[in-house]
Amino acid sequence: MKYIDEYRSQELVRSLTERLHAKISRPVRIMEVCGTHTIAIFRHGLRRMLPEQIELISGPGCPVCVTPSGVIDAFIDLAGRKDILITTFGDMIRVPGTTGSLAQARAAGADVHIVYSPMDALELARHNPHKLVVFLAVGFETTTPTIGATVLEAARRNMDNFCIFPAAKVIPPPLRALMEDPKLQVDGLLCPGHVSVILGSRAYGFLVEEFGLACAVAGFEPTDILLAITSLVNQVQSGHPTVDNCYGRAVAPEGNRKAREIVDQVFKPVDSDWRGLGPIPASGLGLREEYGAFDITRRLEIPIVNSGEPPGCRCGEILKGICQPPDCPLFGRACSPASPIGPCMVSTEGTCAAWHRYGTLD
Ligand code: SF4
Repeated sequence: MKYIDEYRSQELVRSLTERLHAKISRPVRIMEVCGTHTIAIFRHGLRRMLPEQIELISGPGCPVCVTPSGVIDAFIDLAGRKDILITTFGDMIRVPGTTGSLAQARAAGADVHIVYSPMDALELARHNPHKLVVFLAVGFETTTPTIGATVLEAARRNMDNFCIFPAAKVIPPPLRALMEDPKLQVDGLLCPGHVSVILGSRAYGFLVEEFGLACAVAGFEPTDILLAITSLVNQVQSGHPTVDNCYGRAVAPEGNRKAREIVDQVFKPVDSDWRGLGPIPASGLGLREEYGAFDITRRLEIPIVNSGEPPGCRCGEILKGICQPPDCPLFGRACSPASPIGPCMVSTEGTCAAWHRYGTLD
């Protein structure tokens, strides 16, 4: 397959891995920020090919996983109300809150639809004029431009039966919060590829300047990831950290300006609560005043209560990179993909789901 097979070449993977083994001379701890990297690393069997001195830990880069239980409870509360039609991406539907999940709410009669794009939610609003259609806006930089474009389209069409539940977040503030935590000791960051397409590689400069961290933006194929890990090892061993854009075919230093303009037009930074990390200033996106009519939390009273983690679940520590899924006593026992207790076991980008599915291969 053109432009895919090249990045999966066994020969290249072997030669990159051999170079890495030859080069490494000290332990290097790397956080893969993005859940898609976690999955790709497992799926391509990279963990078992890497030198033992490289320790990979997962970070907070799964938007479903970092949404606090209280917000999930609020989604479920909303789904149970009369004449509300909830639209959401698929992963969110199975995440348990303290009062069940959206899937259970749907089984009990709530109108909950899985959509593949926020524009699908707008179409549902057009076809259901007697319902208030709410899109659960959970996501990072990758998805917020499409959500912003959908709000603009809803405004253009004067649709008064469409709203979003603003719960989107941005990646740089939690990275700063994590790196300020003395409990987390990492040498370098595998920076998220999809988020960087929008944000640009320059956005990570503060991690080098303020924390002396090595950074490498990586794509999702095995050679992409190995190149980025090699860059991180080189940076750490040479003592010259930088932001190395190893995903130049998709990521520009300045990112995607047009997409960011849409986000800036529709959203404003707001303080936001992260599962495991707590409240982080300016880490969420709220709708600007002029689009307030499309914010369900301004149209209806929806209590959001801090309900904490499910008993025994260690998702919060996993998202902070201070423990791994097998450290959770529920992992693979009470908690599995068929019967998940925390979001990290539900989401396709969740660390526990990745370890459960692929962990035995490594
Ligand atoms: S194994 Fe389940 S309960 Fe434990 S941290 Fe992961 S998602 Fe939470």
